[in-house]
Amino acid sequence: MTTSSETFSEPLQLLNERLATISDISAAAAVLNWDQQTYMPEGGVEGRAGQLSTLSRLAHEMLADDETGELLDSAGEPEPGSEDAASLRLIRREYEKATKLPSRLVAELSGARARAEPAWARARAESDWSAFAPHLEKIVPLILETAAALGYEDHPYDALLDIYEPGARQAPLAKMFEELKAGLVPMIREIGSARAEDRSAPLFGKFDEAKQEEFGKAVISAFGYDWKRGRQDRAVHPFCINFGGPGDVRITTRFDPGWLSPALFATFHEAGHAMYEQGVDPAYTRTALSGGTSMGIHESQSRLWENLVGRSLPFWAHYYPRLQKTFPESLGETDLKDFYRAINDSRPSEIRVESDELTYNLHILLRFELEIALLEESISVADIPAAWNAKMEEYLGITPENDAMGALQDVHWSASLFGYFPTYTIGNVLSVQFFDTAVKERPEIEAGIGRGEFGVLREWLRENIHRHGSRYDPEELVERVTGRPLETGPYLRYLEGKFGELYGL
Ligand code: ZN
Repeated sequence: MTTSSETFSEPLQLLNERLATISDISAAAAVLNWDQQTYMPEGGVEGRAGQLSTLSRLAHEMLADDETGELLDSAGEPEPGSEDAASLRLIRREYEKATKLPSRLVAELSGARARAEPAWARARAESDWSAFAPHLEKIVPLILETAAALGYEDHPYDALLDIYEPGARQAPLAKMFEELKAGLVPMIREIGSARAEDRSAPLFGKFDEAKQEEFGKAVISAFGYDWKRGRQDRAVHPFCINFGGPGDVRITTRFDPGWLSPALFATFHEAGHAMYEQGVDPAYTRTALSGGTSMGIHESQSRLWENLVGRSLPFWAHYYPRLQKTFPESLGETDLKDFYRAINDSRPSEIRVESDELTYNLHILLRFELEIALLEESISVADIPAAWNAKMEEYLGITPENDAMGALQDVHWSASLFGYFPTYTIGNVLSVQFFDTAVKERPEIEAGIGRGEFGVLREWLRENIHRHGSRYDPEELVERVTGRPLETGPYLRYLEGKFGELYGL
């Protein structure tokens, strides 16, 4: 050990021990959370809420403790670019976030959220925006106060984005969305007029649950999802969760016996998230470096497996005969080409989570613009449904039939998650930028997909992205891996190529 590292080794070691404890507490909370969403009986709800809130309070107290601040102050300056430097940067950031918010604000926000979520669920069931509006009117000023407390240079949205996507800023994102809008809106219009019929019919039929499960598991095993360090269970909403390191990363899915898509693509998607977590350097377990680096980078991994692999023609050229054999009754008469067209059916629809690759990002753009408008106070909460519908008409050429199908469809605003939506589009854009780079460096990846062999792709992702965990912030990671900042060009070219061919544009 060098002298310079000895001068800061003790505080850093103490910080790392503190982080390990916090990580254990959070992992225990994650197990309880996983259990709640998979196997817990209804009667456990109240007890579980108490247990989870106790664990999250303990983790928060340990992080926000004065001693954490003192250790950070005395930790010295590790060598720039080193793992120690990355750890310190991340711990400092989390500490600052945890200490900058006055506890009065945290309490008010969590109270507002607790009341808003059930109110939103009722408002959505009755398609009644006015029942949710008073709650959102309370949340917006608290969100602005949160942004002010966290601090920002140019725009309050920057402070919120930074929670989910460190380094992301409103102005460059607005530019990214403008580029996507300019590229996508005309394509969607053209397809709208080119599309003669609904192509999705082959995906509806009789699909035995157990067979769906078996098929999905076979595919993600081939992707490289490691069952010795994971498992798949059923839950109302598919998710991926890990318990503090790469040794236990679980996924969930849900099955619809009459519709093939939801379980199939959610399984690919969640496996993409899970392989990121399983691929993190085990040495980072219980440290600040453990886990994926941001929501956007995480989503780039799930979308890459779901869309660039799982909705591609070479992939299905290999897997479709097996799928047909699994479901002869429903797919026996459908050929590969029609199946491929079905899984890539592009149609403007009201609901974000059911939308296709092409229209998805316009749903996000709309939410991004409305969030900014709310924070800039250029729109009132009462005006949201009208503004929503106008944007749906402008971007997708449709008007939701009611607010349940429109402004009330997502849980995010009731959960005070402002600045979260853009990470979905960042993930989509980056999925192509990463995939293009992988194929450029290892051209055999494409032929591999056509043979159902994914090892080269998976190892490339592990080597370049997964193993680093949170060591690099998103922008640095993207530059390191692709040699470029995030850019929309490759993504738009991918969509133009794929959907141009599918729709003969
Ligand atoms: Zn995801």
